[in-house]
Amino acid sequence: MTPLSRLDADIQIYGVLPTSMIGSGGSGPDGVHMLEEQAEEYIEQAHSAGLTFDYVLNAPSMGKREWEENAHREVLEHLEWIDSAGVDSVTVTIPYLVELIKSQFPRLKVRLSTIAHVNSVARAKLFEALGVDSITLDVNVNRDFALLKAIREAVSCELTVLTNNLCLYQCPYEYYHHDGLGHASQSCNVLSGRYADYCVLRCTLDRLGDMAQTIRCRWVRPEDVPLYEEIGIDMFKTSGRAMSTERIVRAATAYSSHHYQGNLYDILNVVAPKTGLISSGLPNARNSTMKPPSFFIDNQALDGFVDFFRKQNCLSGCGHCDYCQRIASEVIQCNRDEVDEYIGKLTAALDNLSSSKVFKAKAGVTKQGRE
Ligand code: SF4
Ligand code: SF4
Repeated sequence: MTPLSRLDADIQIYGVLPTSMIGSGGSGPDGVHMLEEQAEEYIEQAHSAGLTFDYVLNAPSMGKREWEENAHREVLEHLEWIDSAGVDSVTVTIPYLVELIKSQFPRLKVRLSTIAHVNSVARAKLFEALGVDSITLDVNVNRDFALLKAIREAVSCELTVLTNNLCLYQCPYEYYHHDGLGHASQSCNVLSGRYADYCVLRCTLDRLGDMAQTIRCRWVRPEDVPLYEEIGIDMFKTSGRAMSTERIVRAATAYSSHHYQGNLYDILNVVAPKTGLISSGLPNARNSTMKPPSFFIDNQALDGFVDFFRKQNCLSGCGHCDYCQRIASEVIQCNRDEVDEYIGKLTAALDNLSSSKVFKAKAGVTKQGRE
């Protein structure tokens, strides 16, 4: 993820070690394996290049391990290392960590993760009172301009909007997904951070089965960034730590220049689901990532698209509104056969999980092995 600060007119990058006592919102044992010394060097290089560095500690829960004395000591040691490595800010979700860091590591700026779901004036004010310096808003409110304005007027801390997110609007799997990612990236996880990618399989099928879902997602067009600046949003964050460097740079350039010519899909954070159990530590478990089909979303055809949302209440409107459906049929192009083939493969992979076949297969092999 590469946040672009408009407030300080500079650029911030972020990162995290694959696993830690606290965990994050999406790393784990499949992440890039970087050692502490390498991370220190990386942070130093970022500073030399005039960038600031944010360390993400945004798992939504530690399963209450923070109250166990030895685990608590590990948390403090990890924060001491982060502080000594010269990190500029940390992004957290757990409210207690906000207070702990403010009390014991006052040099570190504390950012609140989007995973904390700040989607109201009341919640923003309470988190500001707790001590956060910056809030990344719940992505679901990205097109609720009246609410964004009200939050801006109610708090004085920095406000950040996630720009290129391709999550389902009001994703029903979101809490489960973030909870799983948080635990998977914690060093104390009983399964050594392994899991099944159920949530991404499920949401990808929902999105591909109904093209309007892609338009409902709360991405922001680069051309619309000034609307958010007018409201007083300070920072714009491009997500996609698993994206290629080329794609990250393309997205960051588009959002910082407020212009992008071509396929909007190429700057969105497309998360490809893995099938099976992700090296789950169970014998015979297999997983693979299937290349998702390509889409073309005509960014230029979306000029003026956002104006509709100035008067629309999407929280109550989806039952009778066909705006996203109409826009999808106008601006999205894909190869239907390729999409249907991909849907077929994902459906089979999901069936493997929901029917427990993935475990029965293992039991069969074990039984045969005994005979
Ligand atoms: S990646 Fe998928 S499951 Fe996870 S929050 Fe986004 S839309 Fe929901
Ligand atoms: S209410 Fe209309 S514009 Fe809003 S998300 Fe639903 S379909 Fe789209």
